[in-house]
Amino acid sequence: MGTTYRVTFGVRPGGIVLSQADLEYALFDINQSLSTYLETSLISEINSSRDTSLAHRIDQHFLTVFEAAKEVYEATQGAFNPAVGPLVRAWGFGADEPRNPDSAQVAMLLTQSDFAAFHIDYSERPVLHKRMAEAELDFSAIAKGYAVDEIGLLLESTGAVNYLVEIGGEVRARGRHPEDRTWRIGIEKPLEARRELQVVVELNDVSLASSGNYRNYYLRNGQKFVHIINPVTGYPEINSLLSVSVLAPDCMTADAYATAFMVMGLERALDFVELHGGPAAYFISGGEESAFETTASAGFSEILLPDENEK
Ligand code: AMP
Ligand code: MG
Repeated sequence: MGTTYRVTFGVRPGGIVLSQADLEYALFDINQSLSTYLETSLISEINSSRDTSLAHRIDQHFLTVFEAAKEVYEATQGAFNPAVGPLVRAWGFGADEPRNPDSAQVAMLLTQSDFAAFHIDYSERPVLHKRMAEAELDFSAIAKGYAVDEIGLLLESTGAVNYLVEIGGEVRARGRHPEDRTWRIGIEKPLEARRELQVVVELNDVSLASSGNYRNYYLRNGQKFVHIINPVTGYPEINSLLSVSVLAPDCMTADAYATAFMVMGLERALDFVELHGGPAAYFISGGEESAFETTASAGFSEILLPDENEK
């Protein structure tokens, strides 16, 4: 997943202690299914397949993530779109170099980035059909959250009730911190070169995932290209949002919505949360460091710790 992880968990006397190898085996298994950075993964095999008559056998990881991605795709009217693969690669955020497509190429890539090209047949064991040879999936915006949940569930299966799992900034918290208090997590300021906290939140049996465009971007001819793609326009999405953090019971859902909200922009995302039952969220918008603005949805303000410097 191109990032680091950290797992903290409590063990009862005589309880099972998962080893680092146990955790990494679980992560390895997930990557073999969902990573677009592994040529041999299931998703890469599906993406490179040009035979639209094939029925691709899928595993449980793939099925769970595909179904969750579809739900968020529908709820956000395509702001979250796991079929953005062709666009992500063209803009240089997959394994490829940027190609800087012109408007005609973007129009063509848009037709290829069609989630409707993927269809699961449940009639026997689930298989995936790809109706368009060029269509490609990209689960990068949801797979980390899924992996966090899977590690959490693995811990729960050994009897752990107090734990914090974090992969690349996406977290799932259950139970209590070793000091017998609620787990606390810092949300970073959207700064490119430094790591500083904007605010600290308390996590009571919830998950938190963030998405931002302040580090993952490149400049070309003075223009900024960010890794969040608007699946409607086909272009990298730049609006006033610099980062979004989303709260949900499971980390997979939080991860997908955080990316969707970056695409939707502050107003639309906040509307979606407050008026249409979307997950609680915290938005950082603006431009220069001195002018960061923060907006917490009603549900999110409840978990903000009052003292911003408290760790
Ligand atoms: P995240 O860091 O979770 O926001 O995921 C960002 C990654 O998801 C990008 O680097 C792309 O690989 C992919 N991506 C970009 N735009 C979208 C989108 N609109 N919907 C789904 N995935 C996207
Ligand atoms: Mg995400």
